[in-house]
Amino acid sequence: MTTLYLTHEAFLRHDTGPGHPERIERLETVRRVLSTPDYSDLLRSEAPEASIEDIVLAHPIDYVKMIQDSEPAEGDEDYVRLDADTVMSQGSFEAAKRAVGAGIEAVDRIMAGDVQNAFCAVRPCGHHAETARAMGFCLFNNIAVAAFYARNRHHLNRVAVIDFDVHHGNGTQDLFWAHENMFFASTHQMPLFPGTGSITETGAGNIVNAPLNPGDNGVQFREAFESRILPELSDFSPELILISAGFDAHIRDPLANLGLVEEDFAWATKKLLDIAHEFCNGRIVSMLEGGYDLTGLGDSVSTHVSALMDGGN
Ligand SMILES: [Zn+2]
Repeated sequence: MTTLYLTHEAFLRHDTGPGHPERIERLETVRRVLSTPDYSDLLRSEAPEASIEDIVLAHPIDYVKMIQDSEPAEGDEDYVRLDADTVMSQGSFEAAKRAVGAGIEAVDRIMAGDVQNAFCAVRPCGHHAETARAMGFCLFNNIAVAAFYARNRHHLNRVAVIDFDVHHGNGTQDLFWAHENMFFASTHQMPLFPGTGSITETGAGNIVNAPLNPGDNGVQFREAFESRILPELSDFSPELILISAGFDAHIRDPLANLGLVEEDFAWATKKLLDIAHEFCNGRIVSMLEGGYDLTGLGDSVSTHVSALMDGGN
């Protein structure tokens, strides 16, 4: 039972500028936590760059080129803003390609049977990136590319993304909207950025939104998982489960108002492992999304990855 851990130093060169919450220190924190002896059994690998052919599984080529061309060149100003929140620096395009590449590599290694599951510690995050729109700190939708890649290259018929980031994964929902064999389920605070994610948004019957109210804590989070997310996921009988693992529903997080603690993330991880064992040989790829309090992020990644390593069953 091996857990693959994919990351890359290029993720530390994606610089969003002074005062930005989605900052380099986030990934430094995750890397420090996972370098302690408790995690010595992780199989470590560098996140490769995704090819353009892979990225266009989710995004039009003109959009990919727009992102490439938006990166500031040597001698330009330091930062280019794609919107009020979403920033590129020198090195951002490589980081974005490796963030996508991490998910693809994880899918390949899991489908080859080399590892049971994987955690991808990446920046920039991905779940807000829509088909042809960067937003919410996200450039490419890392997890959606991994899902389409699993479908197209490994011929899986049913791929599920479960998103417990505190913000709704509008980008993944957008990309999966008409694909009935791609399942997307999300818990998120509502109202909150980006404003989508009501229970009435159901796509082709493949979208399950379970919004939480500001002030809700692990009780309501677990209830949403037990009553809505997990039964629908079981009905879908996934051949692969991907997790948009954002940890900004943590009580310490400055960008939201939910009251989760790290044990809640471990609980959700174990529940998803149970379903993964029931339907798909335990196959899970988890990709880092948000989480903006460094202590909350570090503690949450710690319990999440420990649960993945324990493997369930
Ligand atoms: Zn978030």
